[in-house]
Amino acid sequence: MQAGSATYSKKTVIGLSGGTFDPIHFGHLRMAQELADNLHLSAVRFIPAAQPPHKSTPEVSAKHRAAMVRLGIAGNSLFSCDDRELNREGASYTIDTLLSLRDELGADISLVLLIGSDAFTKFDTWHRWQEIIQLCHIALVQRPMVEKQEPLSKSLQNFLQSHYTENAEDLHSKSAGFVTMQTVTALDISSTSIRSNLQKQHSAKYLLPDSILEYIRTYQLYTK
Ligand code: ATP
Ligand code: MG
Repeated sequence: MQAGSATYSKKTVIGLSGGTFDPIHFGHLRMAQELADNLHLSAVRFIPAAQPPHKSTPEVSAKHRAAMVRLGIAGNSLFSCDDRELNREGASYTIDTLLSLRDELGADISLVLLIGSDAFTKFDTWHRWQEIIQLCHIALVQRPMVEKQEPLSKSLQNFLQSHYTENAEDLHSKSAGFVTMQTVTALDISSTSIRSNLQKQHSAKYLLPDSILEYIRTYQLYTK
């Protein structure tokens, strides 16, 4: 056993990374890897949204976005792609995803939703948001240089205060209920900037894996 890990339980702790992944990039992948290491996660599931509730329907089909997620996580035994939102009708609500994961995995396993700071500012608009923390923990990471990052609403400040922990071990002692903030390497990469580079015929190399760029070229995505 590694020094420092002796205090961690044998509980299975699964990270959940949801997003449009239009396309997935090194910001998503590196954030998940560092949180897996820092929080001693047993696995991370990437869950592409079919129809994100807070965005217009992505131009690139869910099938292509999921295929790019699979290419991005290839070779990492900690990572997997979970298609459950793609197999559901209608908007992809996180609460439904968590309920379905609990059905499958039971109440004992610890689940940790990985969320960037920009997404968290809108968390109190998510469908049945107050029930989400009863089903999972939340790990927040600061996203660099987000334009117009909104301040947290009063209800989110209260939410943070009542669930906050600085102790990563708490995520192993209970299955749900804590919010932690984690520092990860700041990578100012977004799918929006990748799409915009590709539309301008600029290179998106070094922002995402080459295998995904190859896929984008093959299917001529993001060029129209
Ligand atoms: P878009 O520009 O289309 O919104 P995006 O790059 O923001 O794409 P999303 O699929 O919207 O990617 O993000 C999914 C999740 O990943 C969100 O919680 C978001 O905050 C987080 N995330 C995205 N990019 C980064 C990054 N570079 N660093 C840390 N977290 C990120
Ligand atoms: Mg985004």
